[in-house]
Amino acid sequence: MKGYVHSLQSMGTVDGPGVRAVLFTEGCPLRCAYCHNPDTWEMKEESLISAEEIAGKIIRLYPYIKNGGVTFSGGEPCMQSEFLYEVALKLKEKKLHIALDTSGCILDDSTKKLLSVTDMVLLDVKMTSEEDYKKHTGGSFTETMSFLSYLDEKGIEVRIRHVVVPGINDSEEDIIKLKEILSPYSCITKTELLPFRTLCLEKYENMGIDFPLRDTPQLGSERLKELQSLL
Ligand code: SF4
Repeated sequence: MKGYVHSLQSMGTVDGPGVRAVLFTEGCPLRCAYCHNPDTWEMKEESLISAEEIAGKIIRLYPYIKNGGVTFSGGEPCMQSEFLYEVALKLKEKKLHIALDTSGCILDDSTKKLLSVTDMVLLDVKMTSEEDYKKHTGGSFTETMSFLSYLDEKGIEVRIRHVVVPGINDSEEDIIKLKEILSPYSCITKTELLPFRTLCLEKYENMGIDFPLRDTPQLGSERLKELQSLL
């Protein structure tokens, strides 16, 4: 089976435990206002590659990633769950740790299959209400929470990664609400806040599309620490 792959990063250190290969897939049904990877939104014919070929490329990195693993990211990797399931089966033959970096917006049978071979999910819940989620991502908060409930039921380890954007979800009330929403889920082992950055501006300009948060300030590291301490 073939899938749409944007790129393969060989020595990732921030997308899951240890040194990892990070496979960025193409295609995403959301349009987050602060998205850093608008170049992954569309699936492009020229990006097609077979599961066998991409798994082979990843396995060549084995000496570097054997103590870390592989992370499927995007875009939204769950748009191509069948393809990633095939890739994952080949990686599992090498006993590689598999993490899935997702917004949790797709929980169909294919995604459930992919989750059956996933060791850890890096879940970005993005907002804390249906209204804000719809407004800033175009998707549904309820779907993300259903995804989280499924992970809890299956006992799959989850690390929450939450981008904090000034003026959108950066108040102390927002973070306290996030903590309350997440507290019933014992599958969550870590909740990490990530600062909004504008480094992606050039990508938007090159693609000729407007970056809606062009005038939003970046989140400072001191403020991030203050908010993180609330969790
Ligand atoms: S889910 Fe990720 S890739 Fe998709 S629009 Fe949001 S930030 Fe971008």
